[in-house]
Amino acid sequence: MKHNILFLILLTILGLLISPACQRPVAMKEVGDEAVELFRQYISIDTSNPPGDVSQAAEFYRAVFEKEGIPVELFWTDRSTGRVNVLARLKGSGKKRPLMMLNHMDVVPVDRSGWLVDPFAGIIKDGYIYGRGALDMKNNGIAQLMTMVQLKRNNIKLDREVVFLAVADEETSGEPGALWISKNIWADINAEYVLDEGGFGTQFFFTNDDCLIFSVGVAEKKSIRLGLTTAGTAGHGSMPPKENANFIMSQALAKVAAYKTPVHITPPVAEMIKRIGELADTPYNNALKRNTISLTVLKGYVGDPPKTNVIPDHTEAVLDCRLLPDQDEDEFVAELKKVINDPRVKIEFIQKPPKSNASPYDTELFKVIEQETKKVYPESVTLPHLVIYGTDSRIFRRKGATCYGFFPGLVSMEEYRTIHGNNERIREESFRNAVKIYYHVVKSFCEQKYR
Ligand SMILES: [Zn+2]
Repeated sequence: MKHNILFLILLTILGLLISPACQRPVAMKEVGDEAVELFRQYISIDTSNPPGDVSQAAEFYRAVFEKEGIPVELFWTDRSTGRVNVLARLKGSGKKRPLMMLNHMDVVPVDRSGWLVDPFAGIIKDGYIYGRGALDMKNNGIAQLMTMVQLKRNNIKLDREVVFLAVADEETSGEPGALWISKNIWADINAEYVLDEGGFGTQFFFTNDDCLIFSVGVAEKKSIRLGLTTAGTAGHGSMPPKENANFIMSQALAKVAAYKTPVHITPPVAEMIKRIGELADTPYNNALKRNTISLTVLKGYVGDPPKTNVIPDHTEAVLDCRLLPDQDEDEFVAELKKVINDPRVKIEFIQKPPKSNASPYDTELFKVIEQETKKVYPESVTLPHLVIYGTDSRIFRRKGATCYGFFPGLVSMEEYRTIHGNNERIREESFRNAVKIYYHVVKSFCEQKYR
C-alpha cells in the first residue's frame, strides 16, 4: 500500500514534468519585475520622430521574441532612415480570426530643458517610471510584448492567432508604418480585432468625482488642417496702404476665435453619458462634444529675423481642426467660410483624411476587457470612448477590423498632460497592473475553449 502511494506520487510528479498543459504559470510578481526592466531598456532607446529611426527598438523586440522562441519578422520600409516594422505571431487553431496587438515605436521629440530627469534613461523616481514614451506608447508595447511572452511560456492553446505589430512613424504620416502594413501585409494578417492606444484608467477626468473610469477608444475624431492666406500691398510701415494682409487675417481669425461650434453628441459619447452621467466641464470633454478649431501657425512678416518696418504682401495661418466622426469636411469648411464672411481670405485643405469608422462595442472582447479590468479594479466602470486625437486604428478600421484603444493602467489628469509634454511618466504600480490585465484579456479572449 505504502509503495503504491509512493508510486502514485512519483507518477504525478513525472506527469507534471512532462505534460506541457501542466506547466506552472509564470508568477505575476516575476513578470512584473521583468516587464519593468524591459520597459526601462525600451524607453532608453531614443526613437524621437523626427528623425524617427526605430531600427534599434525593432532589434530590441526581435531579440526578446527570438529568445522566447516566438516567430518574428522585420519589414523594412526605408533602411536609410531606420523605418522598420516588427511582426510576431502566435498561431491559433484557425477556428477564429486573429487578434492583433498594435503599438508604435516612435515617440515625439523632447525639450530636455523642461525635464527633471533624462527622458531616455528609464529612470524610476518616487514610484514613477519616467521617460518619453512612458504613456505614448512604449507602455502598451511592453504590455503587449509580455502578453506574447506569457502566452508562449505558459503554453496557452489558442483559437485565435495572436499577432504583435510594432510600427514606425505613427507620430507623422504612418506611411512607412501602419499604412504600409495595411497595403502589403494586411491580407495575410486579416485580424478581426485590433488593440491599440487610445484609452486609460482615469479619475476626475470625465467626471468631477473620483469614479474610476477605464475608457476604451471605439472611434476617433478626424484631423483636418486648413491653410488660410490673405494678400495685401507690401510697403513701408510709415505709409500704410489700404489693404494690409495682416489686418485682414487678424480680423478673420478674431471671427474664428469667437465662433462656438455647435454641440453634437455622437453615439459613443451618448453611451458615456448614459453610463456615468453628464460629463464635467473640461477642455477634454468639450472636445468630445463638438468640432474644435486651433490656430497653430501664424506667419505674416518679411525677413529673418522679421523686419519690423516692412508690411508683408501676404499672411498665412494654419487651423488644426478636429472633427466629430460623422462631420463632413466640405460642409465644415463651408460653415467656416460663412463665419469669416470675407472673400479676401482664401481657405484650402492642407490635410484631408479619408472617412473614419466607429467600432461596435457590444462585442465579446469589450465584455472581456470589462471583466478582466474589474478583477484588479473592482470599483471601476469601463466605457466606450471617442478618442479626440488620431491613432493608427483609423487605418485598420477602414480595413474592417474592430479596433479598441485600450491600456488598463491608471493615469491622472496631471500625468495625462505629460503626453507629448515634459516629464512624461507612469506610476510603476499602474504599469504593473496593466501588464497583468492585458495578458488576462488576451488570454481569455483567444484561448481555446473546451466548452
Ligand atoms: Zn501614440
